[in-house]
Amino acid sequence: MLASMAVLPICLLGNPVLRSKASEVSIFDESRKTLYRQMLETMRRADGIGIAAQQVAWTERVFLIDLGAASTRSDLVASCRFDGQLVSPKSLMPLVFINPVITEFSEKRAAMLDGCLSISKLFGSVERALAVSIRFWDPEGKEHTLSCERLFAECVQHEFEHLDGILWIDHLDAAARARLRPRLEAIERRGRQQKISSPLALP
Ligand SMILES: [Zn+2]
Repeated sequence: MLASMAVLPICLLGNPVLRSKASEVSIFDESRKTLYRQMLETMRRADGIGIAAQQVAWTERVFLIDLGAASTRSDLVASCRFDGQLVSPKSLMPLVFINPVITEFSEKRAAMLDGCLSISKLFGSVERALAVSIRFWDPEGKEHTLSCERLFAECVQHEFEHLDGILWIDHLDAAARARLRPRLEAIERRGRQQKISSPLALP
């Protein structure tokens, strides 16, 4: 059991896997569940609140969110709707999103501080929909719906974009990007040199 909780190496900006488009998950077996546990452990050790499969060199459409540690933040106190029921976000954590589809974006948008385990220690303001609705499967292959807002919704949108090879820095305007360029280039140099093998046999 302990061996399955191994922490995986995190792919950094510059590693081409982060720019790949992930494929649908069609297998719901123990090897996948072990991978999701490893992703969770990897995210927690790195102090993250979300992680997408590409960040551990796996190109399937799955991401995890765990806002448990951030649950005292006032912007998370709001409840969310899970399978039609009003619940506290904390009661759902950690949550695995498989083959997610965002079905609704609120017109109202909000700028929030964004960051990413693959672009370590860099943060910037990104405007996204304040609330979203999403449909996804869990590791047992059961379908769910979720409507959430604020930090939860921001995190869902950030992780969802990973599955299509989009990173938060892609939302920056030219001036903001120029300010970060030296630090981005330093991370990219490391990312390009990474030799991270797939955590499972290729699908
Ligand atoms: Zn990220």
